[in-house]
Amino acid sequence: MNLSNKTALVTGGNRGIGRAAALALLGAGARVSYTTRRAGEPIAGATEHICDMLDAPGMDALLGQGFDILVNNAGVIGPIGRLDQVDPNAWAKNIATNLTAAFRAVQTALRARGPRGLTVVNLSSGAARRPLEGWSAYCAGKAGLAMLTRSLHEEFGGQGLRVFGFAPGVVDTGMQGEIRASGINPVSQVPQGDLANPAEPGQAIAWLCSAAADQYCGQEVDIRDAAFRQA
Ligand code: NDP
Repeated sequence: MNLSNKTALVTGGNRGIGRAAALALLGAGARVSYTTRRAGEPIAGATEHICDMLDAPGMDALLGQGFDILVNNAGVIGPIGRLDQVDPNAWAKNIATNLTAAFRAVQTALRARGPRGLTVVNLSSGAARRPLEGWSAYCAGKAGLAMLTRSLHEEFGGQGLRVFGFAPGVVDTGMQGEIRASGINPVSQVPQGDLANPAEPGQAIAWLCSAAADQYCGQEVDIRDAAFRQA
């Protein structure tokens, strides 16, 4: 992989899969920026931007810089609970983070630098295709994101945009801790019998952004798909 002439932005790059993607993109030679909501352990060689994805003007200013690669990674799992118990504000925050912020980021990126040579990776999930009891907001947000990915490909694929949905399987991050706390054992859901290290999806995301994957676009890419049933 050689991304030495590319600039990249990873949202939520401070931890989990986003951090691994930022490191992989850096390793491939890209000039990497990432967002975080608060200063933490910096990534050497990358540029950190303190920015909440829900702060539209802040995101617009950042995306207006015209990155070549946009990894829409920031996401939230909750609220977890049956629909009749879900707090409408928590539902709205989930959709705003998992779907609307990604829309806004892509729209600003397109306006800033046009579709040609732009690569977008939207972090999807098996939950985009399967309803999971107690996760209605997450499933709806990720399903919406999957359709956003397809719409982008439909509208701009012919003008040189490469866009992917990327479902990373079941990865050992803070999000899985939240899932475990809700009574689901993530390990029992994956055929491999263990959780993926974030470096695995991180490397796959960088590969999708590289010239090696030039002929691919518009797909929802799945690794380590899981059955994911309530224990
Ligand atoms: P984590 O919970 O470990 O990290 C989530 C990241 O998103 C953090 O950097 C967090 O920032 C950031 N974030 C959340 N809300 C906002 C916001 N409003 N503004 C800016 N940043 C925000 O998640 P993962 O690394 O596990 O997940 C990354 C992506 O992959 C998500 O979109 C998730 O849905 C998807 N995914 C993950 C799977 C897994 O098994 N882990 C499986 C399928 C999909 P902060 O540190 O400030 O909270």
